[in-house]
Amino acid sequence: MFPYFTQIDTINLGENVSYVKEDAFSGYNSLNSVSLNNDYQVSIFKTALHELLGHGTGKLFKIDENGNYNFDIEKTINPLTKEKIKTYYLPGETYETKFSSNCRALEEGRADYMALYLVFDKRAQNIFEFNENEYEDVIYIMWLSMFVSGILGIGSYHNGKWKNPYSLERFIFLNYVFKNQELGKEIVAFNIDEAKNSFKLVINKNNLINYGKNIVGEILMKIHIAKCIGDVKSVEDFVNKYQVVDEYMKNIYGMVPFTFTVKKQMNVDLIMEESNEKQIIKINQYPSTPLGFIKSVVDRFGLDYNEITYKQWTKYYDPFKKSQ
Ligand SMILES: [Zn+2]
Repeated sequence: MFPYFTQIDTINLGENVSYVKEDAFSGYNSLNSVSLNNDYQVSIFKTALHELLGHGTGKLFKIDENGNYNFDIEKTINPLTKEKIKTYYLPGETYETKFSSNCRALEEGRADYMALYLVFDKRAQNIFEFNENEYEDVIYIMWLSMFVSGILGIGSYHNGKWKNPYSLERFIFLNYVFKNQELGKEIVAFNIDEAKNSFKLVINKNNLINYGKNIVGEILMKIHIAKCIGDVKSVEDFVNKYQVVDEYMKNIYGMVPFTFTVKKQMNVDLIMEESNEKQIIKINQYPSTPLGFIKSVVDRFGLDYNEITYKQWTKYYDPFKKSQ
């Protein structure tokens, strides 16, 4: 399915994509128990799929200066439209120039969705020495972790714009699955308790095992093919539709326990890279103190007023104070 390796770098599998451990998501999930002993291994497995079969695959369809295509323009059929390929990269065009502002989020999304798709493959699980009994739990942990990241990432959504490409692609995933799951085949739901101002993220494990691969396959196909043939338009429509944090999702984010979001943000923000107009990357490091944390957030997000964060602060300020 993915015959072209475009680049292989040294991969550090310990480099963790945002991952939620079992004990950290109590309160998010009420229905399923997980019996996997080595849950850290799921994170390594995800990173491997993300880097090698996500970023590591995909052919860009091009025409060169002499009018030669690097694919068979007569015979190649776009699986989405069932028609011949109509868009491709012109000489000098790259993925980054064509997809500009969304390129990083789409590429990270492509790699993440690839992992969430291939986790269903028993041969892949075998390579990482998961056994038959662990099959469903491995899928469950990887998907749950992604959904939780999708919610927590809403913190990087300010005034209709996303500041973090990972947060954007993970929210798109959550939003897409939530809005497109069929009746009777629901995978993810939120049980909201207005009185307690809390919610539980509920995953129907059975439906996830049966229908999850199909639904992530839909998103993956859309993004993967768009990248290969340089079809910016189709993917822009898709992103514009699913990147919007509506009132329902804002409400959910507002109910995330405050201490949890602070903890997550500290992990994310204490070291960050910054690139200026000349694209020179600078690593900023901050001390692991409240002051270091605040400084990192200000440097990253500026001093703009953020309504969601402010509401959360006012809501949780007192209990937070008492617990000190
Ligand atoms: Zn990546």
